[in-house]
Amino acid sequence: MANQFCRYLSNGLSFFVRQNEAMVSPCCWFGKQIPLDSQFQRNYKNAVDSVNGWTNACSACKVLEDAGQQSLRQTGPDWIHGDAPHGDPVCIDINLDINCNAACVTCGADSSSLWKIENAKLLGKKIKLELYDDTVNKSISKILESVSLDQVRYVKFYGGEPLFTDTHLKFIKHIPYPEQVTLHYTTNGSIYPNDAVLNEWKNFKTIIFAASLDGIKEQFDYVRWPLPWHKVSKNLIRLRENKDIWNLMFRVEFTANFLNTYYFDRLEDWIKNNLDINLSGDKTEINVHPCWGIWELVKMPYNIREAVLKKYPVNHVIHRLVANLPEPTPLLPWQQFVNTWDPRRNNSWQTAFPELARYI
Ligand code: SF4
Repeated sequence: MANQFCRYLSNGLSFFVRQNEAMVSPCCWFGKQIPLDSQFQRNYKNAVDSVNGWTNACSACKVLEDAGQQSLRQTGPDWIHGDAPHGDPVCIDINLDINCNAACVTCGADSSSLWKIENAKLLGKKIKLELYDDTVNKSISKILESVSLDQVRYVKFYGGEPLFTDTHLKFIKHIPYPEQVTLHYTTNGSIYPNDAVLNEWKNFKTIIFAASLDGIKEQFDYVRWPLPWHKVSKNLIRLRENKDIWNLMFRVEFTANFLNTYYFDRLEDWIKNNLDINLSGDKTEINVHPCWGIWELVKMPYNIREAVLKKYPVNHVIHRLVANLPEPTPLLPWQQFVNTWDPRRNNSWQTAFPELARYI
């Protein structure tokens, strides 16, 4: 039987690497990580099996549910049946490297190899680019030795940019029943899948291509530096028109920061005109979630909040998101960030968000 409180606790596994060591937890939000070593089975059982209600490790879900938003816990029944055998993974996350071709303003060196390089350049240091191949290969071997993939129905890849390397291919070729499995890629959309990937995808039940689009044109180019919108939008349309990939569905992830949120309608219009449905008529889902850190949504000054609330009707997701924000947090860390990085990138936040520059 699956865990009645949260099905990820009994049938979810999230694999990732910290300091070259493979780690695992029931989901990517869980606050405790267990090394994937010879003691894994025992340590995992001790840390996870006794959880059957709210604990500190699950506070990310608790905070969202208390705020009336959907948590990861609540999505468990979408994938994991109540009678799934306890312990057999049904949902798996794979995050075994941080190789990425972008250094988005809202990301950092913990999740992007390009950010590592940019930070080193800023300090005048030379960086030896880590190649994660060895760690990835060892981690995949450890995963295969430690768990059975027979019950897997859903595998999610994030990074890094999952299509920048072949880590995902190395893993999916071991999935025994691909026709029962949905693959979910959280991707920056800048890399058109090559033939090897497209051929492999044909074996799977569904591919969810979840493109992280934090705007279009100037707003996209600024936030998702150095990726160009014209290339990403072209890739998405090409993918939509590829009749060979009949099992691919689109999803758009919009990370709402305190400046791009005002421009959400431009993205919404672009999706409506270009990516509203896939070839089979499945609707593209748009998922809006607040940004944390230097660009956090809650930094939004009151006069921008007013402009956003005026622009979007009360029942619009953006209106609801902004209407419930607590008091704005200080802009100083953000100002230091843009003063450092805009000149180095030959970028300007005032040009990317021209309607809002007068409010700051
Ligand atoms: S309650 Fe949330 S954080 Fe805890 S295991 Fe479930 S999904 Fe993960």
